[in-house]
Amino acid sequence: MSPQTDLESLYRDLHAHPELGFQEHRTARIAAEHMRALGLEVIEGIGHTGVAAILTNGDGPTVWLRADMDGLPVEERTGLDYASTATGLGPDGETVPVMHACGHDMHVTWLIGAVEDLVASRGEWSGTVVAIFQPAEETIAGAQAMIDDGLVGRVPRPSVVLGQHVGPLPAGIVSVTTGTAMAGADDISIVLHGRGGHGSRPETTIDPVLAAANTVVRLQSIVSREVTPGELAVVTVGTLHAGTKNNIIPAEARLGLNVRSVTAATRDRIVASIERIVRAEAHASGMTEEPQIEVLISAPATINDEDATARVRARFTGAWGDAAVIDYGTVSGSEDVGLLATAAGAPLVFWITGGADPHHFATAHAAGRLEQEVPSNHSPYYAPVLHPTIERGVESLVLAAREFLQAP
Ligand code: ZN
Ligand code: ZN
Repeated sequence: MSPQTDLESLYRDLHAHPELGFQEHRTARIAAEHMRALGLEVIEGIGHTGVAAILTNGDGPTVWLRADMDGLPVEERTGLDYASTATGLGPDGETVPVMHACGHDMHVTWLIGAVEDLVASRGEWSGTVVAIFQPAEETIAGAQAMIDDGLVGRVPRPSVVLGQHVGPLPAGIVSVTTGTAMAGADDISIVLHGRGGHGSRPETTIDPVLAAANTVVRLQSIVSREVTPGELAVVTVGTLHAGTKNNIIPAEARLGLNVRSVTAATRDRIVASIERIVRAEAHASGMTEEPQIEVLISAPATINDEDATARVRARFTGAWGDAAVIDYGTVSGSEDVGLLATAAGAPLVFWITGGADPHHFATAHAAGRLEQEVPSNHSPYYAPVLHPTIERGVESLVLAAREFLQAP
């Protein structure tokens, strides 16, 4: 493979200039410029900052290749000479440090490199490739924004959707999981409406603090009593806010929940159970106003299609050998790439491509210190090694795409 762009320089530049979700103007422009220079038809501004680029090359299947573009509100501490000093605007308009702590800069680099390779090798395949540069994965909003902005109708429909995430596996190793590759996630906010009053006269009030406390405890019965033992499921109450002063019983209490699950049935059951418990606790407390329960963001589990995944795995092992392709199993992190595949009615294959220094990884593994010594995604120290991470990610996208495109 001989990509025309210096992908290392491209990656370093993207890494030094991260942008938060829906603020990826510079990144999107760079991606669009590369796609245009390669002769692709480019559509910009899909779902705010999303870009779709279409490479038509005769008859044959259509393959979507997806990369997300956004950084995180993290202050970089890697000490790299291309480390980020960028800032962005947080949800309340405040200035926050920004870092590509999840490696989406690598994803953009990979996709640009893969499209270059597919253009250069267009005599060896036929069909259509759609490169999708997606905004705002970290807030689970970008894929839906592109769908809401008509992505599916604006580009050719795919036979398969392909994507990958860089992760803390040794560089050169790729993890391909059939079925559930990543958990689903839901953020739920709850407001319990009591009746405020003097702390010395509880008989005149309906205390939302006590109702909130009971709710938190009771919610923890969902995973232990309502989900099949052994199935991955998490209910976390991450925020709990009520009151302003010790001798005031407040009028309301607010809870912020995060749910992780791997099947739609379990997810629906957990969400229904949360609603049942919250309403029951409100009634038990004598609240006259119904509580507010709102699902703020929702990402389904990332489900890899069985047949398509088997084909990708076989293609990878054929190219790199069995030892380079592992099955790490379901990870508890979440993704919104599955929404694209569902909206397009196409199977999904999403894999994890290692970015950790293989020698460092082996030493840490031997010492039983992987968690301490190999920074994970979202860490201020997260820093994939450039090689062979860049090359393997480009190769994997090209190999997977070529598996579904038509051979001449
Ligand atoms: Zn992330
Ligand atoms: Zn990510």
